[in-house]
Parts: sequence; C-alpha cells; structure tokens
Amino acid sequence: MTFDVDVLSIAENIKIVKERIEGAAKRIGRDPSEIKLVAVSKTVDIDRIKEAVLAGIEILGENKVQEAKEKISNFKFQISNLKIEWQMVGHLQTNKAKTAVQLFSLIHSVDSLRLAEEIDRESRKAGKVQDVLVEVNLAGEETKHGVSKEGTISLLREISKFKNVSVKGLMTMPPFSEDPEKVRPYFRRLREVRDNINELRVTSYELRDLSMGMSNDFEIAIEEGATMVRIGTAIFGERR
Ligand SMILES: *Cc1c(COP(=O)(O)O)cnc(C)c1O
Repeated sequence: MTFDVDVLSIAENIKIVKERIEGAAKRIGRDPSEIKLVAVSKTVDIDRIKEAVLAGIEILGENKVQEAKEKISNFKFQISNLKIEWQMVGHLQTNKAKTAVQLFSLIHSVDSLRLAEEIDRESRKAGKVQDVLVEVNLAGEETKHGVSKEGTISLLREISKFKNVSVKGLMTMPPFSEDPEKVRPYFRRLREVRDNINELRVTSYELRDLSMGMSNDFEIAIEEGATMVRIGTAIFGERR
C-alpha cells in the first residue's frame, strides 16, 4: 500500500501510522502498547516537530548531534510543559559522546567498544546511567555502521562491565529494498541474535528491545518482534 503522505497533515499521518502499528501487532497477537513509536525528525523544522508533539508524539529521533542540540534548546523554549524524549538514531562519533549524553534518553547506535567507553566516561561525569542499544550490521554492508553479528556478543560482554552504560537491546538498519518482504529475514535474524544473547546469559539481565523498522517496512518489523519503530517519512513526508 502506498499513498502520498505529503497531502495529509502530520496529525493525520500519525494517526494512520499508529493504526498500522496496532494492526500489525494484533495480527500476530502482540500487545500494541509494547511497541514504541520514535518519530524521526532529522531535517524537520521545529514548527513541524511541534505539530507532531501536539498530535501525541512522545519520542523524537535525530541523527546528528549538533542539529538535535539546536532543536532541543529551541523546543524547550517554545513548549516547556510537554514531556518528550529525544533519542539518537544515527551514527555517533566518539568525540560527540559528551553532548549526546546530555541530550538523549537513548542512543540506538553503539557499535564499538571505544564509543561505549566514552559514553560510560561522560555519563559517569554527568551522574547518569545512559541507556543504549547496540547496532548490528547484519548484512555486512561496508557502507553501514554497526558491529557484525559475530562481534555482537563479545562487544556486549565488554559493555556490560561499564557501570554508567545500560544496554537495553539491539538495533539494525537492513539493506534498503522496495519490497519490505525482502528485509523480513534481517528483522528475524536480529530477534534471533537477541534471543541467543539472552540464552547464553551474556548480560546479567535480559535484553528486551529491538529497534527495527522504518516507514517502508515497520509492519514487517513488528511482526518479527520490533519493540521500537523509527519512522520519519510516513509522519513528516519526504525529506527536503
Ligand atoms: C532517517 C532514519 C529513519 C527513518 O527513515 P524513514 O524511511 O524516513 O522512516 C530511521 N532510522 C534511522 C537510523 C534513520 O537515519
């Protein structure tokens, strides 16, 4: 099903996306309330972000630290009484870890020990425990970030020693395909990697979250176990 999201308002788009999340969850007997909607607001201006928040969005996802920093300070100034979370969905450079710790409730994209170490150090200084996900590059695409499937367990073993970083789960960005059914195997594989980690007791607690699924394929991701879907275009329209 395709439709032109640009002709609908942001509020209408959100309503449709939420209905589709609910529909996908119910199809396979999942409780829709266990799936969090992250509205990816990269390149979207503050007025349109505000519209989304007024229409019920509670989590905003950004992919650049500097852009997020400006938006967050503007946003606080404009509407201070609304409770929203900002999350980092894009690749994070080690030298931006300090600012990221100040801004984000969750970092979806930890993919190296060095980055995790830096987040741990900055979180300790800030008196915070930073929630993170480990990004897994399941297709081994060189153009994409993320740790290999094989490297995931050893990275997790190391990260779980850090006191100021708390790993909540895994994230993936599968290779793009027009046909969402083609990405289903990647979503399934991420769930299997998580289940395997839990069976092997790699971390002292169970990993729960799977951040997977974007505008083109979030229903498939939900069918395969996503607990967080990251949706930009289907809410805000094509990025300009
Ligand atoms: C841009 C982006 C998204 C959202 O993509 P859409 O196809 O617009 O829904 C999700 N995750 C990450 C990491 C992104 O950079």
